[in-house]
Amino acid sequence: AAPVAIVSGLSRAARIGVVVRDGGALERLGRARTVLLDKTGTLTGGRPRVIAVVPVAGASADEVLRWAAAAEQLSPHVLARALVEEAGARGLRLPVPEDVSEEPGRGVSARVGGRPVVVGRYPAGMPMPEAVRRVEHRATLDGAAVVWVLVDGDPLGAVLLGDPPRPDAPRTLRRLRSVGISRLVMLTGDREAPAREVAAVLGLDAVRAEQSPADKVAAVRAERKRATTVMVGDGVNDAPALAAADVGVAMGARGAGAASEAADVVLTTDRVDRLADAVTIAVRTRRIAV
Ligand code: ADP
Ligand code: MG
Repeated sequence: AAPVAIVSGLSRAARIGVVVRDGGALERLGRARTVLLDKTGTLTGGRPRVIAVVPVAGASADEVLRWAAAAEQLSPHVLARALVEEAGARGLRLPVPEDVSEEPGRGVSARVGGRPVVVGRYPAGMPMPEAVRRVEHRATLDGAAVVWVLVDGDPLGAVLLGDPPRPDAPRTLRRLRSVGISRLVMLTGDREAPAREVAAVLGLDAVRAEQSPADKVAAVRAERKRATTVMVGDGVNDAPALAAADVGVAMGARGAGAASEAADVVLTTDRVDRLADAVTIAVRTRRIAV
């Protein structure tokens, strides 16, 4: 490897907001054949927006949104930001949450006004009343993300959010293929239906939905047996998978880089197409280097 080429590759990347940890990371990126991409906040999440607020237990839509947004005030998750923004747009006053904890890939728990509130995926293992099933079904038809709000352990309602692919995502994936990436896979904590909806638009080779952070790590390890593997993600739920990949790439523009510490490459602008730029630079650098 020619050190001069590597230094120039690193600085070319830095000039467009792509921070590569070291020459080794750049070389591995130039050898990559497989790219695994998180969905929410990476392939999507330019701007998720609230489509509907659906009460299931007699509360008003604004009450459902108020509990959800109150609990989510401290979360950097893209869906959380969208809920808080919508509450602001509706002029809702949000009480300060206490004892907030966030479980990556699931949601947040907190106490709001002294009452336990859970916001996120419908809790696994909890019975699903007919009204809850209907909302899940509607979300499936809409390809929407669903955020449930449970107060005192009972479902109060859900917020449906549209989370379309980033406008620069299709082009990014085409460019990746043109510089030698032969396998593109989505890894998402989200459910099957919205995952397939986004994947169909983008033309991915495979989709794995309902992935816990540990599942994402297992998927990375399996891919690494076949080829040099890049994992791209934005959230804390992606951090272990980024660390397990040959090259971990973090979307680092928001939330002070929830995934950035585990990454070899940080995209500091909120554009996924910088990923294609980074791989292109890495491939060219490698050609000069060998
Ligand atoms: P991805 O892997 O696609 O980035 P995440 O693992 O971040 O998705 O989230 C998966 C699902 O978990 C989301 O679609 C949402 O239903 C739920 N979720 C995770 N974090 C939150 C949160 N802070 N607020 C609401 N829902 C959340
Ligand atoms: Mg994500």
